[in-house]
Amino acid sequence: MKTLLLIFSSILLINCASNNHINATAEATGETATKYANTITEADLKERLYVFASDEFEGRNTGEPGQKKAAEYLKKFYVNHNIPSPISYGNYYQNIPTENLKPNLKPSENVLAFIKGSEKPEEIIVISAHLDHLGITDDEIYNGADDNGSGNVAILEIAEAFKKAVENGKGPKRSILFLHVTGEEKGLLGSKYYVSHPIFPLKNTIVNLNIDMIGRVDDAHEKQPEFVYLIGSDKLSSELHLLSETINDQFTNLHLDYQYNDDDDPNRFYYRSDHYNFAKNNIPIIFYFNGTHQDYHEPSDTPDKINYEVLQKRTQLIFYTAWEIANRENRIAVDK
Ligand SMILES: [Zn+2]
Repeated sequence: MKTLLLIFSSILLINCASNNHINATAEATGETATKYANTITEADLKERLYVFASDEFEGRNTGEPGQKKAAEYLKKFYVNHNIPSPISYGNYYQNIPTENLKPNLKPSENVLAFIKGSEKPEEIIVISAHLDHLGITDDEIYNGADDNGSGNVAILEIAEAFKKAVENGKGPKRSILFLHVTGEEKGLLGSKYYVSHPIFPLKNTIVNLNIDMIGRVDDAHEKQPEFVYLIGSDKLSSELHLLSETINDQFTNLHLDYQYNDDDDPNRFYYRSDHYNFAKNNIPIIFYFNGTHQDYHEPSDTPDKINYEVLQKRTQLIFYTAWEIANRENRIAVDK
């Protein structure tokens, strides 16, 4: 009993200490981070999503012309914003041969862009979202505005915010990889390919923040739209979970819903998007998600149904979280 008590109180002490540390860091970076978080706006997200989820992109089916247009759109954004590729100059595509996809799929590609850290460039934060969707069936285009146009435009806005920080000499200390993966709807194929052919060693990949559907409000939150489901944040690193909560308390104040984080949850969302390929490799992850809705995997998942105010707040939460992970003194620890 005594031993137990002792252990218990030392755990409490350790928890308090690391909590204070995170608060102090967040305060130190707060004002600067906010300046750049404020460049992430509803208007920009909306403008980009109306293009990315338009009929012109034909539902972005893996390997098909619509998906290639989507990849080209992302690439152009990075070129125009002078955000480089980590592969080679001007080459933003990680090409995936058919043998790494599935039968009947044409070659496809992940789209990558990169901001190099100023002090610990070898330590990599991956922010990911799948760029593909379901294509066209029976002449109906599956626009996939929420799934996962929302995640892609969120990454573009986050990249732009970090780039502005770099231009003002406030760039992140660690590096950030913006990773738009293909083939998610066909079985997490693009992220599977990335982790087996990583551009940067996985042992130096310190976290994956994965975004898959963050533009809508599900029925359960009709009365409380300022929420997001977080999945996986505590599975490998208690530090990551604590940091994520502290950052949200301080900057964005969304209701963080952990319902789907339960190991016994029958939906098994933890295993169903691209972060899982990183988690499998012992890399801590957070999966940001708005839950399913009546337009999920339907042609009616269109950009007019997105709640842009909430999309902005969720994107800012992910930006602040990445900022803190990139700039804090110590690399987040894996302790589970
Ligand atoms: Zn999705």
